[in-house]
Amino acid sequence: MMSYKVVPRYLPQIMRSNERNMHLLRQKAYVDGNWVDAAKGITFDVINPADNSVVAKVPDMSVEDTQKAIDAAANAFKTWQDVNAKERGLLLRKWYELLAKNQSEIASIMTAECGKPIKESMGEVAYGNSFIEWFSDEARRINGEIISSSQSTKQIFVTKQPIGPVALITPWNFPHAMIARKAGASLAAGCTCVIKPAEDTPLTALAMAQLAEDAGIPKGVINVITSDRKNAPAIGKLLCQSPLIAGISFTGSTVVGKILYEQCAKGIKRIGLELGGNAPFIIFNNADLTKAVQGALAAKFRNCGQTCVAANRFLIQEDIFDKFVDQLSDSIKNTIVQGNGKDGNVIIGPLINNTQMNSIKRLVEDAVMKGAKVVLGGKPATQLGDKFYEPTVLTNITEDMNVYNQEIFGPVAVCIKFKDEDEALKIANGTMSGLAGYFYSSDVSQIFRVARKLEVGMVGVNEGIISTAEAPFGGIKESGIGREGSTHGIEDYVYIKYMCLGNM
Ligand code: ADP
Repeated sequence: MMSYKVVPRYLPQIMRSNERNMHLLRQKAYVDGNWVDAAKGITFDVINPADNSVVAKVPDMSVEDTQKAIDAAANAFKTWQDVNAKERGLLLRKWYELLAKNQSEIASIMTAECGKPIKESMGEVAYGNSFIEWFSDEARRINGEIISSSQSTKQIFVTKQPIGPVALITPWNFPHAMIARKAGASLAAGCTCVIKPAEDTPLTALAMAQLAEDAGIPKGVINVITSDRKNAPAIGKLLCQSPLIAGISFTGSTVVGKILYEQCAKGIKRIGLELGGNAPFIIFNNADLTKAVQGALAAKFRNCGQTCVAANRFLIQEDIFDKFVDQLSDSIKNTIVQGNGKDGNVIIGPLINNTQMNSIKRLVEDAVMKGAKVVLGGKPATQLGDKFYEPTVLTNITEDMNVYNQEIFGPVAVCIKFKDEDEALKIANGTMSGLAGYFYSSDVSQIFRVARKLEVGMVGVNEGIISTAEAPFGGIKESGIGREGSTHGIEDYVYIKYMCLGNM
């Protein structure tokens, strides 16, 4: 079996320099412009997955605290909805500027709470910030229409109005960007928000709230409630069912997304869902193999494979199968450094928590038991800590294996051989997920054909990294409803009002 590079577990000098960058670390929640504890005074620990140290303690809030945040958002909406678009845009711009100025501080907090390599955290903050910047401009472009009427005594006007206070529930894998693209759009539209960040990563959210306050965003417009996992279902239910909340935007697992969708049905509440993916990454015989391998590394191993758009199944045409697997494995060995994300050289950090670790272990064990061949990795990297899993490449994959059907969310590359385009599409589309899909081809007809036939919301053609503020992000099938980013990202937060002026 092959090996890969690791860095020493403890790097005291790097830790010291990063710890200096923690002036935005907040240990209270942010409600109605105040930094507050939970009503019951309870806290929970935020753990660094790289070494299990306690990064901070934050309030473990309940439904009682959440109600206060909802009331604050509802109250602030009364005035925020009337702040003109230019002013809302300018406040978002100010927030963006402070976020950009504090990029490395936020990145240090993020790496400490989610284990993401510092280079990736820096990248995520820049990426997340680009949504605040984008929506600071979009605020001024939420325009209506004047439509010709069939009756000359009437005139038809169409305007877009903010739906009201919204709840934003976000995951741990992109602690900044998932909040930025929801909060940016909602504030631009004139909505106020209650943000419930993931229990693993509340600190990035609180740092963002601090900078929103510094930017002059009025009290109650942004509220952040922190809670441990056990309170999340009750808080989620309240947010879905409160008559004061007009809409929910959720990024996370399909299981939780379905619960929220059901809960929102009762009040016919707006919901945007960005759920799990199961991205195919197809490499055709005619592809540029070097570029495909580069794209594969980025699409698979970013954030240790813990992204909803991560390449989940590598589908490789038979003539180039062996060559691709060899080159991918060599590139992993030569370029991927695994270790504590604080070290600037590290490319892969730990998994977020024990649940993720157990899930990856089980998936690989199941595949191996059913006949998969381990080309690289295949086990936890225990010498680095208890949440590190070796970058892994598996072949001899069959349909009965769980890695064939499930979202992996870890550093495991599953390589499946196919004969022709029809077979590739059949495998690619044979899932209830439909978020991202990737393929590498040099045949222009094939490019348009396959892009059209892939049952996904986003397609990367000869490209492994596709997310950007200007493009609509979202899925079809069970991967979600609605789009984030781009001009379409505003739609979840506005409703259309038609006004008829008659008797002219
Ligand atoms: P993951 O499995 O990646 O942790 P989840 O979907 O479980 O993804 O979590 C994403 C977000 O949803 C987190 O903020 C989490 O606290 C929250 N969450 C988990 N369960 C519920 C629930 N039943 N209702 C509302 N939010 C929930």
